[in-house]
Amino acid sequence: MTGMTTACVAYANVFLHPLLDDGTSPASRGERREQQMLRTQAEKMCAGCPLMAKCLTDAIVKFDVAGFVAGTTKRQRQEIRARLGITVAPEDFDTFAGVNSGRQFDRYEIHRMRAANPDQPLSVIAAKVGCSVSTVKRHLRRIEAEGGVPRPIEKKSPTPAQIVAVAEDVRRGTRRVAAA
Ligand code: SF4
Repeated sequence: MTGMTTACVAYANVFLHPLLDDGTSPASRGERREQQMLRTQAEKMCAGCPLMAKCLTDAIVKFDVAGFVAGTTKRQRQEIRARLGITVAPEDFDTFAGVNSGRQFDRYEIHRMRAANPDQPLSVIAAKVGCSVSTVKRHLRRIEAEGGVPRPIEKKSPTPAQIVAVAEDVRRGTRRVAAA
């Protein structure tokens, strides 16, 4: 795959165009036409992309990303998820910055470090994360109180082929609405 540039990278001017963002509504007839043109262009490029099925599957089942991805707008992906009965787990915003490293720690990371090495003093975890021992204790207590680390939500996962088929259907629906 070395050296392969996907269309969304090569034509970022199309893919990242504000008119392809769901937050933007066309202000005029001209803009609406332009939006339609951009969407058609981007759809074609994604349709010809070797990563299409994987890209779409990830965008549907893994992350709720913004913008135009894998031939779909964010709104279309919401509809695809609704039809497939998929919910994307919300991000765990309960993170805090480690003051030493400047990186964000997921609070479950503390739990993982503890589980991986139960004899290690909490002060070692605190030093790694860059927080106080009492913060480490607080997070561990809270996770225990919640019944431990939640397992990743395993839901029925549709195959990439199913997702591609539903996406095609949703796109057809969108085109019908746009043409009406
Ligand atoms: S399918 Fe995904 S990787 Fe391929 S061009 Fe479209 S957005 Fe980019």
